[in-house]
Amino acid sequence: MSAKVTFFPVANGDMTLIILNDTNETSILIDVNIRCAADDPEDDTCDVANQLRTRLKTDDKGRPYVDVFVLSHPDQDHCSGLQKHFHLGKLDDYKYEPPEGEELKIVIREIWSSPMVYRRASTNHTLTDDAKAFNTEAKRRANLYKEKVGVGITDGDRILIIGEDESPDKTKGLEGILYKQGDTITRINGTYNSMASMRVLGPFPKDADEEEEKSLQKNHSSVIIQYHIASDAAHPDACIFLTGGDAEVAIWKKLWSKYKNNTDDLKYDLLLAPHHCSWHALSFDSRSKVADPKVDADAKSALSQANFGAYIMSSSKAIKDDDTDPPCHAAKKEYLTISKNFKCTGEYPNTTTTHEPFEFIIAADGPQPPGNKKASVAAAAVSMAREPLSHG
Ligand SMILES: [Zn+2]
Repeated sequence: MSAKVTFFPVANGDMTLIILNDTNETSILIDVNIRCAADDPEDDTCDVANQLRTRLKTDDKGRPYVDVFVLSHPDQDHCSGLQKHFHLGKLDDYKYEPPEGEELKIVIREIWSSPMVYRRASTNHTLTDDAKAFNTEAKRRANLYKEKVGVGITDGDRILIIGEDESPDKTKGLEGILYKQGDTITRINGTYNSMASMRVLGPFPKDADEEEEKSLQKNHSSVIIQYHIASDAAHPDACIFLTGGDAEVAIWKKLWSKYKNNTDDLKYDLLLAPHHCSWHALSFDSRSKVADPKVDADAKSALSQANFGAYIMSSSKAIKDDDTDPPCHAAKKEYLTISKNFKCTGEYPNTTTTHEPFEFIIAADGPQPPGNKKASVAAAAVSMAREPLSHG
C-alpha cells in the first residue's frame, strides 16, 4: 500500500478519501455526496457508494468503517447519503442484518465537527435531514466526552471539535478535543499517527464585528485544513493537501491577511478548488451583474501558495466555457495561472463516459495522478519503506 487521496465523481459536491501509509491504512473521509437515485437512469453518480465501499476496510466484526469522517460544512452536497450509508448513534445499536436491498452501514470511528460552521449554516438556511442527523450525532459524542471526562471513549464515540464555538462556555469540558484555528492535529482516532498531521486554518472564530460575522456566514464558512500526508516515514510532507469545502472569497481574503507573513501554512501540493471551482471563491463581483468582474488579489494569493508541480482539483461537473457557476470556466482560467496541473472529477476519464474516482498515489516527491508511470514505481518503493506496526 501507499498513501492515497481519492476524489469521487459526485458532480458538484465533495467526497474525498485519504488513506494513510501506516500499518492500519488509516482512512479519513472528508464530506460525502451519495445521491443514490436508483430509479433515475440519468444519475451516473449513484455508484459512488460502491466506489467508496470497495476502498474501505472492515473491522473484526465485519463492519465497514472509516477512522475519521470530517464534515467541511453541512450543505447537502457535502453530507448527502449520510443517514443511508453510515451508522449514527451508539455502536451497540449497530444492525448486522440490514433490511433487504440495503448494505451494512459504515462505522465512523471518529468525527471531526465544527459547531461554529453549523451555527453559521443554520443562520443562513434550513438544514437538511442528513445535516441535522450529523449534528445530533456530533452532540451525542460531545456530551459523552463531557460525561466521561474524556476517559474510556472508544471507536464510534470519538469526536474532535474543529474551531472555537461562539463562546468558550459552549465548549467547556471539551478543551482536550478542541482544535482552534492555527492548531495542529496529530492524533487520529485517539492515536498519535506519524503518517499525517493536520493544520487547522478554518473556520474563523466568531467575529465581534456584526458585518464581518455576517460575511463569514454568507461565504460558506467551512472547515479548512492543510493535511500533511507522508509517503513513508522519511517523507512526512510528501503531499500537502489544502481543502476548505465551499469557503468563498471573503474567507480566503481573511486567511491571506492572517497568513501572508507565514505562507507555509497555505502551501500545497494538492488543492481542492473551493466551492466546486466557483467564481465566488476568487471574486466579490457577480459575473452576471458586473461588466468587468475582478478577481480579489488577496483571496487569489491565499490560494496561490502552490509548491512546484502542484495539482488543483475541481470536484464538480465538467467545466464548460459558458455562464455556469459552479463550476466556472473563468475561475478555472485563474487556477491555471497558478498551476497547469488542473483536473476535474467530472472530466475523468473524459467528459462523456461514466466517471471514475480520481486517485492520487502519494510518492516521496508528491501526489501522482492516475496513469502516471512514476506512481506505480513510487508505490512499490514506498511499501518497502513502510514503518513498523506500533505508533505508541
Ligand atoms: Zn458544495
